[in-house]
Amino acid sequence: MSHQVQRYLDQVRGEFAGVDDGELASYIPELTRVDPHGFGVALSSSDGFVYESGDAATEFTIQSISKPFTYALALESVGCAAVDAKIGVEPSGEAFNEISVDKVTKRPKNPMINAGAIAAVSLVPGSSPDERFALIQDYYSAFAGRRLHIDSEVYASEKTSGDRNRAIAYMLASFGVLDDDPDEVLDVYFRQCSLKVTATDLARMAATLARNGMNPLTGRRATDAPVVRRTLSVMVTCGMYDAAGDWVSAVGMPAKSGVGGGILAVLPGQLGIGTYSPLLDSRGNSVRSVLLCRKLSEELGLHFLTVARDSRSTLRAIYEPRDDIRVYEVHGDLLFCGAEQVVRTVDRGCDEFAVGILDVTRVDDIDDAAKHLLSGMGTTLRERGKVGLIVDPDRMVIGAGSEFEDFRFSTVQDAVDAAAAFLGVEGSDR
Ligand code: GLU
Repeated sequence: MSHQVQRYLDQVRGEFAGVDDGELASYIPELTRVDPHGFGVALSSSDGFVYESGDAATEFTIQSISKPFTYALALESVGCAAVDAKIGVEPSGEAFNEISVDKVTKRPKNPMINAGAIAAVSLVPGSSPDERFALIQDYYSAFAGRRLHIDSEVYASEKTSGDRNRAIAYMLASFGVLDDDPDEVLDVYFRQCSLKVTATDLARMAATLARNGMNPLTGRRATDAPVVRRTLSVMVTCGMYDAAGDWVSAVGMPAKSGVGGGILAVLPGQLGIGTYSPLLDSRGNSVRSVLLCRKLSEELGLHFLTVARDSRSTLRAIYEPRDDIRVYEVHGDLLFCGAEQVVRTVDRGCDEFAVGILDVTRVDDIDDAAKHLLSGMGTTLRERGKVGLIVDPDRMVIGAGSEFEDFRFSTVQDAVDAAAAFLGVEGSDR
């Protein structure tokens, strides 16, 4: 464990521990019975190490933080097109429990408001509420890395006091958004909201999203990358009730909050945060959790739009081992923008050499767009009367059986020798 990080987390939590603004959610009596002073935070690194501070092990109900996960399960089960046919992805600007649908499409505006969340439940496969809920429970548990259970008192109370949600579900049925019995769908929705989690569970669930669906604790895949991308997108625009804009500007992490007092925040590729403090502001977000996330983001540079480094560092070196032969050595992680820069630099220098050699030996990772650009470079050079060779011992760019295989070498020396031989032949022809 890093004592520095632990000390820092304790200190930041301590800073806000005295804040007692806000109210407990009171639409059901069970939520007013919690300790208003409860305050915990957990931070999971992307390799699954968890730092905890305060009441990180206190259980509370997940409530609306369930919404992104059921949406993800619906996406995974029936596919994006079928989900889009029933639920939009636009921020609503309305209260989370508004009895409304989009005026034109008659679909719920997004899956983070109750209407969209109830529609998402109906897309989870299952021939009975029990079957549907079992899938949901398994799914959330895979993200948390432990079995999650229901708070049966909260569930019973949600069910007896859920008239507003009933109104929403029946409205959705009347618009053809719900194909199943509204009460059965609602029963599952109430159960999912009543699942108990801790701040640590939320941090682990967030870290699983941060890892593109791979749970860093269990090493098991909970979902796949396209599902994560879509889910995080909706969390960015709609995850924090009516405060989504403020949150993105100040904190800048895809997140979801719930009236149980939790917030789950994700920094893609990096970490997951879970917080708990049940006193809520007027928008329904946990007061101390928001303050804490804001501070962590500012001080640790967690805003997802922070530009960490630009792609100039892609080109490590350019040198000429012999007259007429120029080597471009690239390194690091190559995405479209870095590869575009390499291709443009080679293009610009093209009149100054006869053979261009691209050395990708030190590339750590490369995506498809970059691969496509770099593998086409040889063809572009040939069109301009040049020779393009590539040093690609690990087949980062040139896959087995590629049409460019003849231009691939394992070392720079081999490529330079081949280029020299070629230039020699060229020379004797002249
Ligand atoms: N069970 C709550 C409801 O649907 C969830 C509220 C929330 O966390 O926003 O009303």
